[in-house]
Amino acid sequence: MENLNIYNPVKIHFGGGLIGEAGKIAKKYSDTALIVTGKNSMQKSGTLGKLVKILKDAGVAPIIFDGITPNPTINEIDSAAGIAKEKKAGLIIGLGGGSPLDSAKAVAVAAKGNIPVWSYLKTPAEEALPVITIVSTSGTGSEVNRYSVMTNPETGEKPGFGYECMYPKEAIIDPEIMLSMPPYVTAATGFDVFVHAFEAFTGKAKNAFSSAYCMQVFYLLKDNLVKAYDEPDNIEARGNMALASALAGLAIDISGVGIIHAMEHPVSGNYPNVAHGAGLAALTIESMKYNLESCKRDFMLIAHHFGIKRAGKSEDEYAAALIEKIQGILAALNLNIGLKDLGVEKSKLAKIAGEAFTTMGFAVQNNPAEAGEKEVLKLLEASY
Ligand code: NDP
Ligand code: MN
Repeated sequence: MENLNIYNPVKIHFGGGLIGEAGKIAKKYSDTALIVTGKNSMQKSGTLGKLVKILKDAGVAPIIFDGITPNPTINEIDSAAGIAKEKKAGLIIGLGGGSPLDSAKAVAVAAKGNIPVWSYLKTPAEEALPVITIVSTSGTGSEVNRYSVMTNPETGEKPGFGYECMYPKEAIIDPEIMLSMPPYVTAATGFDVFVHAFEAFTGKAKNAFSSAYCMQVFYLLKDNLVKAYDEPDNIEARGNMALASALAGLAIDISGVGIIHAMEHPVSGNYPNVAHGAGLAALTIESMKYNLESCKRDFMLIAHHFGIKRAGKSEDEYAAALIEKIQGILAALNLNIGLKDLGVEKSKLAKIAGEAFTTMGFAVQNNPAEAGEKEVLKLLEASY
């Protein structure tokens, strides 16, 4: 029997229109909030304007930092932290996809200290400003976990980090905000949810708690991942994908990710125009083939949750049927792509393989099948 320590303190508010509660929630923490968001989408959809009004009406003064780019850089985070300090913000509100939410958590740490955010990879953070997440993609699961992923633009390194003080205090998951996601964002972020659940469910650190979340995620993905893409206005499908995102975010908070994420981070770290979920899409099928023998039973269980009929299939055939199913889903999402399609240069694959270990070593170690740098390079080549 293994010992387990399970902890997640995030208060979750799920429901259509719940952004309306943001003022009341924010007021519990501070009278001054720094909103950390991206450059376009939340302005265009009107969500940022709405949030500003909601906060003001509740007596919370909003300060806006709207300089976060997809795959956020440490420079953006340090700038936002500087503003939080200067304006004495007592609360950080992340508004947007994983990039602004991850940034909000990192800003909350950096605003409490006197060192650049990159230093916190080595120096554990003991305290952070309170964070509220208002998520607009589904997604990274960042809305409910402690992780933050940031890029050093000088080197291309893109590590993830997460300390206990970085858990958001409260998460507002309002699927109406997700209705404006364009098809490509819906597809890429939705596929990210699958990879979180797949890697948490098959990884060495899996346990009963994370597996319970993952099984519900597979079940939700089966009926809603492609539907949300095909029917962007379907609020039911959007809501189910938002639930799946949060559940998978809780699962990786407990059990971590694996080799697919370990390889993807250096891909989008070195090529910031690559959407995280699209990078994952390029890497998943070869990684599934690589892992199949190490966790065949898990593949079969996932196949079952995806509604694949066992019929007369042998164990090998049934496990392999899951890979075919995922290939079909990728095709339906228009994400049947290789690294080449994402603009990755072949000459960069060795650097990417190295960084999978230096920046995401814990994820390689968590992978069900053992892999050294040679094997990772081979996987990258096969995914090209
Ligand atoms: P992003 O937050 O990077 O957003 C991607 C794009 O979608 C942006 O152009 C953004 O616009 C746009 N967008 C976001 N929401 C909407 C919306 N509702 N309507 C229209 N457009 C929208 O995408 P992700 O959510 O995939 O986050 C990716 C980041 O999260 C990566 O850095 C990844 O490594 C990290 N990550 C973190 C994890 C964690 O556990 N913390 C786990 C997995 C990944 P704009 O920029 O204008 O806002
Ligand atoms: Mn991910």
